[in-house]
Amino acid sequence: MIIAIDGPAGTGKSTIAKLISEKLNITFLNSGSFYRGITLALLREKIDIKDEKKVLAFAEKLNLDYVNDHLILNGEDVNHLLHQDIVSENVSPVSSIVELRHIVNKKLRKVTETQSVVCEGRDITTVVFPNAEYKFYLDASIDVQAQRRFNQGVSELSLEEIKVTIQKRDEMDKNKKEGSLKIAEDATYIDTSDLTIEQVCEIILSKIHI
Ligand code: C5P
Repeated sequence: MIIAIDGPAGTGKSTIAKLISEKLNITFLNSGSFYRGITLALLREKIDIKDEKKVLAFAEKLNLDYVNDHLILNGEDVNHLLHQDIVSENVSPVSSIVELRHIVNKKLRKVTETQSVVCEGRDITTVVFPNAEYKFYLDASIDVQAQRRFNQGVSELSLEEIKVTIQKRDEMDKNKKEGSLKIAEDATYIDTSDLTIEQVCEIILSKIHI
């Protein structure tokens, strides 16, 4: 079984997908962490992210694993490094490279060969798992998105700066050549602005029959 969740940044996707996965005792698959892991590796090696050929050649050689909700990069658990501002700033241009998306998509699909998953991201309901049994699109107002990110306490930026960076990233994510963020026709749309995490989980769980 695949439960697919898409939506912009700061709409609670990860928290909610993780809770749903625990309730249903299935795997939580955070697709953004693959793009973040690749971005982290590129930054560490000081590779120019605008040089698509170099980026691709480098990404192809990376060993990316996903174990217990954690991204493992060449054998190192890098999960705690994935939400640094520098990674968030660079991840959208990196993930715009079409061939790089294909590498990540393959890895995501591989996981589902053996496991039921709740997978969240930007193109999960449309490109990665268009045949998912359940599809959701989570949204929120920009002020709520920014406040949620700010409250997570992982950014060094002010609330206003976070708002600007989220707006920029969402804009880029909605305008990619492939895998752009959009609402799948058959997805349940949920505006989470005035809802608690528990309320969103309840709505999602009420649609799932197993
Ligand atoms: O979900 P998260 O905010 O961690 O994702 C980080 C970035 O990775 C997104 O802003 C987007 O650019 C990229 N991404 C993507 N496709 C996905 C998941 C994430 O392009 N399925």
